[in-house]
Amino acid sequence: MQYISTRNTDLRVKSAAAIKKGLSEEGGLFVPETIPVLTLDDLKKLTKLSYTERAVFVLKKYLTDYLVKELRECAENAYGGGKFDGESPAPLVNLEDGVNILELWHGPTCAFKDMALQILPHFLTKAMKKTGEDKTVVILVATSGDTGKAALEGFRDVEGTKIIVFYPSEGVSDIQKLQMITQEGKNVCVSGIIGNFDDAQSGVKTIFTDEEANTEFLKNGCVMSSANSINWGRLVPQIVYYVSAYCDMVASGQVEMGDKINICVPTGNFGNILAAYYAMKMGVPVKKLICASNQNNILTDFIKTGEYNKNRDFHTTISPSMDILISSNLERLLFDLCGNDAKKVNKWMKDLKEKGVYTVSTDIRKKLSKVLWAGCCDDYFTKECIYKTNEKFGYTIDTHTAVAVDVYNQYKAETGDETPAVIVSTASPFKFNQSVLSALGKDAETAGMDDFGLLECLSQASGMKIPDSLGNLKGKEKRFTGVCDKTELLKTVSEFIGKK
Ligand SMILES: *Cc1c(COP(=O)(O)O)cnc(C)c1O
Repeated sequence: MQYISTRNTDLRVKSAAAIKKGLSEEGGLFVPETIPVLTLDDLKKLTKLSYTERAVFVLKKYLTDYLVKELRECAENAYGGGKFDGESPAPLVNLEDGVNILELWHGPTCAFKDMALQILPHFLTKAMKKTGEDKTVVILVATSGDTGKAALEGFRDVEGTKIIVFYPSEGVSDIQKLQMITQEGKNVCVSGIIGNFDDAQSGVKTIFTDEEANTEFLKNGCVMSSANSINWGRLVPQIVYYVSAYCDMVASGQVEMGDKINICVPTGNFGNILAAYYAMKMGVPVKKLICASNQNNILTDFIKTGEYNKNRDFHTTISPSMDILISSNLERLLFDLCGNDAKKVNKWMKDLKEKGVYTVSTDIRKKLSKVLWAGCCDDYFTKECIYKTNEKFGYTIDTHTAVAVDVYNQYKAETGDETPAVIVSTASPFKFNQSVLSALGKDAETAGMDDFGLLECLSQASGMKIPDSLGNLKGKEKRFTGVCDKTELLKTVSEFIGKK
């Protein structure tokens, strides 16, 4: 199978090259030329298999230049080696009749990004070998919290790679900072920057395009790469858990093989829900994809009106991983909906860059609303949803998942559609303990507590065990206490690379 760019369909590369490059040179995103098919017989077969084997089956349809043996190694390393707690990395929990929660936070960093970032490093090192690259890949990451830690855990001690992460020193939660500065591994480096996330992001982008610096890195035997969510290698592992969730619905007798389900996803950069769209196009029976946003509801407006307009206020919310105004992966959906028309995509993306707004045709808007329904939920209702879900079901959800549960309820109320559903849960409630405890009415009780006090308190309120990876942070050595100025990123990277 060949991959083409959403902005240049003449460009054709194999999956290993697409994963190595991340982004196409003209700024487009790589997509498979055609979407492979899963038959009901395939799904029937998968129902009896483990998560790892389901993953191999789906991955081999997309990554056709990898040997099945290689993909099995990748999947076993990622999902089979005790990195995820519990029996399956993506268990489906039944909340009430016809409503299921897909828990994607059982990995080492307690957020769903582990599902892709645990396997991406293995795809990447194999891609380097396949493309004849003998250099060390240096992964540069700017993070506002979750991605940095998940990438560090994914790449730590992976042969042939090094990783360096920059975070805004005053812009992440205490627990997120602790997670990063105590990171283990011989090939890792973490640095705070004096500045905000945008400063970190633009600093990293500057290094990618700095020719002089890149020549210098080459002399040290290094090439730069990114673990950003626009990399195809991060998207394809996400398709797997939708296929797997459908199999689990069938296995538990909630639907008959072939019956449709609905899927609701808390959305930021549009990667997670796009993976659900690909699963549907492959043949997983899906009636509606429900796109849930927080107060940054640019996607809700777009899906309802066909106008994507980023000229609006940015809101800082209690579901920070969804605080985003440019959802990069939407480009892949648009490309598919307009029949792989790169000209159209180029025009929209140019308008977005120059004017901050683009509008799709009525035809595209109709296609959008046929597959997608969209809604949003502000912080007040997010907290109310956490409280009510806990009261009604004794089940505690994080702030991002709560946005999805609330929007799913809006969907059901508005449409009356009771099709059995999967609601995607993207983070452990322990990761956003302060907001969750506040939603549960524990503000007075927790005033002045440090993060470890909050973890204990949430454990009592929820009846859940504190994830080891968060509880164990307490005694850990702080390895990376350094902070650099936002103008010193390159210096920090050079020093790190220079170290053998
Ligand atoms: C990244 C993230 C999201 C958003 O996912 P996208 O693929 O960017 O839409 C939602 N919830 C959590 C907890 C996340 O870390």
